[in-house]
Amino acid sequence: MFDVIVIGGGTIGAATAYYLSKQQIGKVALFDKGTIGGGAASWAASLLTQVRAKTDTIPLVQETYRALEALEAELGESIGAKRVGSLQIAGSEKTAASIENLAEIATQFGITNHWVDAQEVKAMVPWINEGKVLKASFMPDDVFLEAFVLANAYAKAARRNGAVLFPDTEVTEIVAENGRVTGVRTQQGFYAAPFVVDAAGAWSNLLSMPQAIPLPMAPVRSIYWITRPNPALFPPTQPMTVIPDAMAYSRPETGGLLFGIRDRESPFVHPRELPETYNGRQFIESEKHWEILLDEGKEFREFFSGV
Ligand SMILES: Cc1cc2nc3c(=O)[nH]c(=O)nc-3n(C[C@H](O)[C@H](O)[C@H](O)COP(=O)(O)OP(=O)(O)OC[C@H]3O[C@@H](n4cnc5c(N)ncnc54)[C@H](O)[C@@H]3O)c2cc1C
Repeated sequence: MFDVIVIGGGTIGAATAYYLSKQQIGKVALFDKGTIGGGAASWAASLLTQVRAKTDTIPLVQETYRALEALEAELGESIGAKRVGSLQIAGSEKTAASIENLAEIATQFGITNHWVDAQEVKAMVPWINEGKVLKASFMPDDVFLEAFVLANAYAKAARRNGAVLFPDTEVTEIVAENGRVTGVRTQQGFYAAPFVVDAAGAWSNLLSMPQAIPLPMAPVRSIYWITRPNPALFPPTQPMTVIPDAMAYSRPETGGLLFGIRDRESPFVHPRELPETYNGRQFIESEKHWEILLDEGKEFREFFSGV
C-alpha cells in the first residue's frame, strides 16, 4: 500500500518520485520495467543549452540548473554535469540574424555570452571548417549531463527520502474502480495507491488508453551518431555546437564526437509498435533509415574540415 505510485524511472518519473518523497506526503513507490534510466534517458544527447528562441522555456531550463545544484548538494556528490559551454554557429546571413536575436535574448535573461570569430571557433572546435563560420556566439556556462546518470541520481535521492524503488517490475495495468484509481497491477502482484503518476515516457499511452485517457504525445524518431575516438580532432573539453543551417548539434563523447541531425519530417510510430526496450533495436526501421545521413547530412558535412 502506497500513497503515490510513479510508473517509469526515466528523468521525469525519477524526479517526480524525488520531489514527492522530499515533501514527505507519504509512502512513494517508483516502478520501472527495466533499469532506472534505461529508457530514452540512456539514449539522450543530453544537451542542456539555456537560450531558446521560445523564451518561455528559458526560466524552466534555468530552474533545471538550480535544481541540479540543489540535488548535488543534497547527495553530497557531483552528478557529472560537463560545463563545456555551447557555440551557436551561423553559416548564412539568415542564421546570423537569428543568432544575433538569441544573443540578445541570452543577455536579457542574464546568460553569459560573447561573440567569437572563426579562428577562435577553430581553436575550440578543431574539426570545424572555419570558412563556413560567418558568425558565432559562445555561452560558456552551458552544460551537458547524461540523462541516464541524472535519472539515477534522482532515484538515489528519492530512496534516501524513503521512496521504495521497484526496478525490473513492469506495470501491466493502472487499476481503477468507479472512476477512481486504486493502484497498479504488475507481474509480481497488485500494489494499492490512491494516486498514480504515469511517467512511462513513450509507453505512457499504453497504460493510460485503457482508462480512456489518451495523452497528446507520440514517440518520434531522433538520431545521432558517435565517431571513433580522435582526441586531437574532438577534444573532450570542446564546447557543444548548435548549427541551425544544418539542423545539427554536437558534443564531445569519450574522445569522439556525438553529432545529431534533426529530422525534417520527424517520423513517428504508434506506441503499440514500440519495441519493449530501445536496446539493440532501431526505433523506426525503413529502407531509408540510414539515408538521413546522406540526405540531411550534406549541409553538416560542409561544416567539417578534412573529414
Ligand atoms: C536520440 C535522442 C536525443 C535526445 N537528446 C536530448 C537532448 O539533447 N536534450 C534533452 O533535453 N532531451 C533529449 N532527448 C529527450 C530525452 O531523452 C527525453 O525527453 C527524456 O529522457 C524523457 O524522459 P522520460 O522520463 O519521459 O522517459 P524515459 O527516459 O523513456 O523513461 C520512461 C521509463 O518508463 C519505463 N516504463 C515504460 N513502461 C513501463 C511500464 N509499463 N512499467 C514500468 N515501467 C515502464 C521505461 O522502462 C523507462 O525507463 C533525446 C532523446 C533521444 C532519443
